[in-house]
Amino acid sequence: MSNMIKCNKCGGESTTSTRICEYCGVILEGEGKTLNDSLNELNESFNKLRSFPSPDLLDSFKNNAKFSMPILSLITLFLTFKINGFFGIPFVVFLVYAILSLFKKKQNLLGGFKADKLLFNAQLTSLYGMYGKDPSTSARLGQIEKEFKNINKLFKKSKSFELIMYVILIGLFIFSYIIPATKTEIEIKNEIVNSEASILLVADSLLSNGNYTEARKILKDLKSKESTIELQSNIQLREIEYLFKSIESQINNKEYDSAKNELQSIIWKKNSTEFDLEKLEEKYFKRYVQLKTNLNGKLPEENRAQVESELDF
Ligand SMILES: [Zn+2]
Repeated sequence: MSNMIKCNKCGGESTTSTRICEYCGVILEGEGKTLNDSLNELNESFNKLRSFPSPDLLDSFKNNAKFSMPILSLITLFLTFKINGFFGIPFVVFLVYAILSLFKKKQNLLGGFKADKLLFNAQLTSLYGMYGKDPSTSARLGQIEKEFKNINKLFKKSKSFELIMYVILIGLFIFSYIIPATKTEIEIKNEIVNSEASILLVADSLLSNGNYTEARKILKDLKSKESTIELQSNIQLREIEYLFKSIESQINNKEYDSAKNELQSIIWKKNSTEFDLEKLEEKYFKRYVQLKTNLNGKLPEENRAQVESELDF
């Protein structure tokens, strides 16, 4: 039969599916490639696999720059607006890298490895099938296979670095997208002041009903300095107004000396220590000076008290 090969040594006939004589074990020379040809091909594929770089995690970002750099740009852009302007520096770096990577033709190396690995495996399987029964060839193939497995391990490691890179990128992207923007100190302060505006209105209505004690209790609940100064000043003004009323009735009773003395003894106690807060308090102080001046004007000239001016604050 034509698909049988005759052994030159013992004359036995073997099928063409093997290149080893089924009777005496020598390597048969048939048509087509010789053992050496096939081994050379296998070595060629193997050397190609061996020359593949094994990228680490950082390389994975670089090798996949077309994906990783735009994502990193977006991440740092979000963080620039939400957290801190200093993220603008890495943002520019990533953006430049992303644009440059568009013009690079570099392909993903790991994809090429996969194709070469398929070829190598096919060549190895075919050699095992034809010459596996020959002990020295089998040993040689075993050695190459062992070395290949080490290289394949490195490849798998690089593949997992690539996976880790994607997880990191997607994780960072989601994080930077959903993280709430940090508020500036001024924004936080304004929010508190706004939220306390309605409390101040309640306190004001308590004060206009003469309920100073309840109004003072509210002071403890206020968190912002601004609201505190407003309420402290309001309380002080209302209490002074109350005292002024009793002085006014003394003037009506012509008790000028004691009215003058009392008027003079009333002075504004400054609450604020910072410039911004002083501005809030100043309007209460001006109102106090106005009322005091009016009241003083009702006294006879020789009995008048000394009154501060609006500029004395
Ligand atoms: Zn033979």
